[in-house]
Amino acid sequence: MSGFSLELSDEQRDLRDWVHGFAAEVVRPAAAEWDEREETPWPIIQEAAKIGLYSFDSIATLFADPTGLSLPIASEELFWGDAGIGLSIMGTSLAAAAISSAGTPEQLFEWAPQCYGDASDPKLGAFCVSEPGAGSDVSSLRVRARYDEAKDEWVLNGQKAWITNGGIANIHVVVASVEPELKARGQATFVVPPNTPGLVATKKIKKLGLRASHTADVFLDDVRVPGHCLLGGKERLDERLARAREGASAKSQAAMATFERTRPTVGAQAIGIARAAYEYALEYAKTREAFGRPIIENQAIAFALADMRTEIDAARLLIWRAAWMGKTGKRFEAGEGSMSKLKAGEVAVSVTEKAVQILGGAGYSREHPVERMYRDSKIYTIFEGTSEIQRLVIARAISGMHIR
Ligand SMILES: Cc1cc2nc3c(=O)[nH]c(=O)nc-3n(C[C@H](O)[C@H](O)[C@H](O)COP(=O)(O)OP(=O)(O)OC[C@H]3O[C@@H](n4cnc5c(N)ncnc54)[C@H](O)[C@@H]3O)c2cc1C
Repeated sequence: MSGFSLELSDEQRDLRDWVHGFAAEVVRPAAAEWDEREETPWPIIQEAAKIGLYSFDSIATLFADPTGLSLPIASEELFWGDAGIGLSIMGTSLAAAAISSAGTPEQLFEWAPQCYGDASDPKLGAFCVSEPGAGSDVSSLRVRARYDEAKDEWVLNGQKAWITNGGIANIHVVVASVEPELKARGQATFVVPPNTPGLVATKKIKKLGLRASHTADVFLDDVRVPGHCLLGGKERLDERLARAREGASAKSQAAMATFERTRPTVGAQAIGIARAAYEYALEYAKTREAFGRPIIENQAIAFALADMRTEIDAARLLIWRAAWMGKTGKRFEAGEGSMSKLKAGEVAVSVTEKAVQILGGAGYSREHPVERMYRDSKIYTIFEGTSEIQRLVIARAISGMHIR
């Protein structure tokens, strides 16, 4: 028996085709409208919930695939349909992943389903890490969590920035500093249950791309949550803080643990956009004529398309490798999770830019989707760690040195 195969299983192929069908029939036709409206596409989220694509069970099944590939496969197909709508559907999985990473199994089953709601009344989840003064530098969070022992409650104060689904989510998962002097090792993750007083958000931020997806700043003003909303529990936190105070090195910090799990999936989203733009440009190049022949008959165009396809396939292989390594417990000795996100983000930007170029003037207009894909792609070199931060992680991993 061969020990190596890139053959997808029947289940994975079925999943890919199922999500692709939804992306082609429901998401892509609605993409331009929701991009223009810059509103959360609730009817599409409801459709996704109705067919079982948007649900806690669905995300749990994707997470459970022992090869790790199901989540990137589904993400690529959904984002092939449209990235703004895609993030409106998948943004909740960041909150679910955070609960899964930091929480106990009981906490996972209590809170993650509430991020999704049910088929007749879907809800959203938000994962709140970034702050105005702490985006790349997540060790410098200023949102504070203070324990009120008399009431067994945690009190959260401060401001989060750029939060996907911020303020419109049912469940906000908030990373906060318990002991600021311990930097990242003094942080913990909290669930803020629905309708908790003191959590308010700004209006939706107007953006270059992903305009259907809701992004807002979130303010926490004496937000009180019960003790059991501390993910992982107080005992575990106290032990961790004690170790950190003694100077022992902590294996991972709260936010970073979640990012490591989610980076290949975010890379897969970028590849979905890149593939959509590449396919559109390929078809256009076969039919658009200039100088009396299809433009693809020029090597300059055909080679650009060859490079686009090669880069997309290379990025996907890095994503699948990282997803598989993460799921099977392999050590990321060279920052392979970051590598996959770095490559996919850069490929999405360069491929969508080439697609616009291949369409010429048509590519610059909103009559064709590559214009939107070009705008949407750019976020993938910025969120879930900028390209520079991914390079920092890789550089530190391969050198063993504290590169700044
Ligand atoms: C649409 C959108 C959705 C988002 N959703 C979420 C969300 O749901 N939850 C959440 O918590 N956050 C979210 N974010 C925030 C996002 O993760 C941050 O914007 C990102 O991490 C970058 O942080 P920053 O914007 O503060 O940039 P900065 O950290 O200020 O970085 C600015 C520039 O400096 C570079 N830089 C910084 N430090 C270094 C260094 N050491 N070496 C080299 N270069 C460096 C960066 O790479 C970047 O180019 C979202 C952002 C956007 C735009």
